[in-house]
Amino acid sequence: MSHGFDYDLVIIGAGVGGHGAALHAISCGLKTAIIEAADMGGTCVNRGCIPSKALLAASGRVRELRNAHHLKSLGIQVGSVEFDRQAIANHAGNLVSKLQGDLTNSLKRLGVDIIRGWGKIAGTQKITVAGDGGEKTITAQDIILAPGSVPFVPPGIEVDGKTVFTSDQGVKLESLPDWVAIIGSGYIGLEFSDVYSALGCEITMIEALDQLMPGFDRDIAKLAERVLITPRDIETKVGIYAKKVIPGSPVVIELADFKTKEDVDVIEVDACLVATGRIPATKNLGLESVGVEPDRRNFIPVDDRMAVLSAGEVVPHLWAIGDATGKMMLAHAASAQGIVAVENIVGRSRVVDYRSIPAAAFTHPEVSYVGMTETAAKELGQAEGFEVAVSKSYFKGNSKALAENESDGMAKVVYRKDTGEVLGVHIFGMHAADLIHEASAAIASRQSVNTLAHLVHAHPTLSEVLDEAYKRAIA
Ligand code: FAD
Repeated sequence: MSHGFDYDLVIIGAGVGGHGAALHAISCGLKTAIIEAADMGGTCVNRGCIPSKALLAASGRVRELRNAHHLKSLGIQVGSVEFDRQAIANHAGNLVSKLQGDLTNSLKRLGVDIIRGWGKIAGTQKITVAGDGGEKTITAQDIILAPGSVPFVPPGIEVDGKTVFTSDQGVKLESLPDWVAIIGSGYIGLEFSDVYSALGCEITMIEALDQLMPGFDRDIAKLAERVLITPRDIETKVGIYAKKVIPGSPVVIELADFKTKEDVDVIEVDACLVATGRIPATKNLGLESVGVEPDRRNFIPVDDRMAVLSAGEVVPHLWAIGDATGKMMLAHAASAQGIVAVENIVGRSRVVDYRSIPAAAFTHPEVSYVGMTETAAKELGQAEGFEVAVSKSYFKGNSKALAENESDGMAKVVYRKDTGEVLGVHIFGMHAADLIHEASAAIASRQSVNTLAHLVHAHPTLSEVLDEAYKRAIA
């Protein structure tokens, strides 16, 4: 017991953020407890990264084996390819159970106290936990809030969890509808479109903004659309939003123009996946007891040390990490933030460097990026008075990609014209999610294309696609 408190550190939420923070806290010698109201492992393990990647692993193989043209040019012939939806769903479910168990055991083994129930701040350094055995109060020198996020369902859309559902139900793959509408073309909508199209569903993708994949670099999004959407006969409705979605058989979707709000169409489909983003789970956390007001989008305001802010001032001993902070809603960002919060708790001043945190969509092929898009970099350049240049290279000029017969793709490097500093790297193509880390390291250490162009890459590897882009930048 430290300084008269029950714990040195109590973490609310055992998702990947809370888990990462707890493990680091133990390694720093802090007496630590973690409070979880629902499934250990949170979104990533139970309803996010893990089951979705398990589905993509199966559907990707189905797609590859059914691509007779592609295999034939490698000299391979495959007979008819069958799959079992239930077995694919079981694979995802089993993986979730295994990782949930591994994560819980790792916490227990290292001595983290796991407290089941709903955690709520009850004033400075005090938390109440409401669980099966009633409510109890615990005290802690420091508190980390890691409550995560939940799917955002726009007004007018009724989710019944069966015919109209979010990714929470989608990852269970309880059915394969003949025709599914996917609302939203961000990475979640995109990944599900990859799964559903490989497994034979017809898809209509509805995107309210004026382009598909709105968060991605424009050139990458355009190329990805030419590979992931068009040849897969995915119908797209861009600049259109789902004004009303009524569950049932069929699901009825009323569509309207996003800008004018005028009705444009009514479609009937077998199912509808709502992938319209996520909102922070910051309700009923007791934030008001310490004078903290969520920001206008309900995220918990934090600084780069992950200290919680109230009216711009640091609230002592209160930290927040993960999706609930809205900084970068990704699993590895949540755990990185958790580690930074703990470092600051133990007096080692650290901040999160979001510039170098990569992101990926695990479609076939994959999309990944780190740092700024060309548009964002140009806006910054205009504000700060520097020019931005880009350099591109293509997988079709990469020997390894050609040998693999997987030559759709491109890498794009965004950099400062004056210093050559790399500001962003975007990759679409085979293994893009793995290839991005070299670029992450380059951005973290503020490397310039001039230096990177002289780094020697093994031949023949996909990583030469970045080598080529750096070399073109200085040519
Ligand atoms: P969460 O994982 O949401 O965990 C928060 C936990 O806190 C939950 O278990 C919740 O029950 C608990 N909790 C909340 N409030 C309380 C309370 N008051 N008391 C007790 N417990 C509480 N990210 C990637 O990096 N890569 C991917 O490939 C990827 N794929 C995804 C696919 C899908 C379909 C989805 C939906 C998300 C995906 N993500 C991915 C995002 C990733 O899952 C999240 O960024 C990550 O889970 C955030 O972690 P977190 O710790 O902030 O919150």
